[in-house]
Amino acid sequence: MALLNFLGAIQQVTGSCYLIETFDKKNILLECGMQQGGDSHENDNDNNDNGKSNGSAFAFNPEHIDAVVISHAHIDHSGMLPRLVSEGFRGPIFATEATCELMELMLLDSAHIQEKDAEWENRWRARRGKKAIKPLYVSQDAERVLKQRKPVSYEKRVEVVPGVHVTFADAGHIIGAAIVKLEFAEPNDSVRTLVFSGDLGSTCSPLMKTPAILKHADVLLLESTYGDRDHRCNEETLDELVAILEQADKDGGNVMIPAFSVGRTQDILFHLGRFYQEGRLPQHTVYLDSPMAIRANDIYFRHREDFDEENRAMLKKHNIHNVSDWLPILKLTPTPEESMAINNVKSGAIIVAGSGMCNGGRIVHHFKHNLWREDCHLIFTGFQARGTTGRAIVDGVKSVRVFREDIMVGAQVHTLGGFSAHAGQSQLIEWASHFENRPELHLIHGELDKMLILQSEFKKRLNWDANIPELGDRIAL
Ligand SMILES: [Zn+2]
Repeated sequence: MALLNFLGAIQQVTGSCYLIETFDKKNILLECGMQQGGDSHENDNDNNDNGKSNGSAFAFNPEHIDAVVISHAHIDHSGMLPRLVSEGFRGPIFATEATCELMELMLLDSAHIQEKDAEWENRWRARRGKKAIKPLYVSQDAERVLKQRKPVSYEKRVEVVPGVHVTFADAGHIIGAAIVKLEFAEPNDSVRTLVFSGDLGSTCSPLMKTPAILKHADVLLLESTYGDRDHRCNEETLDELVAILEQADKDGGNVMIPAFSVGRTQDILFHLGRFYQEGRLPQHTVYLDSPMAIRANDIYFRHREDFDEENRAMLKKHNIHNVSDWLPILKLTPTPEESMAINNVKSGAIIVAGSGMCNGGRIVHHFKHNLWREDCHLIFTGFQARGTTGRAIVDGVKSVRVFREDIMVGAQVHTLGGFSAHAGQSQLIEWASHFENRPELHLIHGELDKMLILQSEFKKRLNWDANIPELGDRIAL
């Protein structure tokens, strides 16, 4: 009988990690995610990690791991892979094709950030006569991860270690995101099935399909990010966005949209493209000022066969092959020079840039030129975690500190709900209700208060008892 250890994303949303020990002593690591931020819902897209607790030792010996399975490329699900490899893991890493492509982008970027952070910290330490620190991992480690990837198509059943098979189903969260089914052959020839929901997409996010329905599992691990509520997701949110863009046009300034590079940015560009196609976009230029998001766009379009049917048909009908066909006023600014040139644009532009919570990235540069101006607008479309600059602005601070300078918040600030890339409460329950045999249910990837609400809803609506595991808990599969 296989055993499952709950090692990460337990009563919190980041650091996804589960260790499975099979009856014949093989070790499979399901997820190898990085811990991010403080208490956050959806900071899974950007590499704006503060390194907190990622430095402590793994709860296992990486040399003893035989294979890794990754649900999707977000850094809180894949970001510790370079460290796993640097500490001796040499086995295969199974993930979908798009996830494998996105991992290249995200892990190299993450390694670069680790190197830069350590460099900065060590300069500070040197001045104080302190010992230098080592980065969590370096680019070479990330490059090594890439060599160990084993891309697998959706719905293709492959062997992970002898007697254990994985099948990925579309989770509809970001491109390549998967629900993971693991089947364990038991010594008595029976099969035990573990289903891990991964991050389940919201039915309201554009481009992505509705999460695939699975009907059989013995044990189910269900994400609970929004276990406490349903999203308001309808045309209203989009009309609200158009209304803000119209107002911004009248006011005469620019519009800033901080957005995570993978997932949220592509959703926003899709919506802006739709407004453009419908003649409802008053601005003259949309700048995408994020090298990572620009590359992620290409990966999205390369995998557009995974877009939902309706949108895929529409893109086909309009002969759309990349995001610029869809939104012709889109201007990509990958280089620092191109990015800085935006500073001269005083009116009629929409600037989409990272990081999503304004703790760094190019959006901060745009604050310097736009945030203090009363004719400018700032639109938040994602959750802002406590302690971030974005959250401070949402909470109404008068000024924020940007590059050792206090910038007044003069721009009009808007927070738009309804753009979540995660399933809401009813959708989570509905999705789980399709399992025919009522598997043993464990809630993971959520804050405790939200999980407790989801747990009681499962009891109330389906009379189904859900367990909320503690960190380090171990169950038999
Ligand atoms: Zn995610």
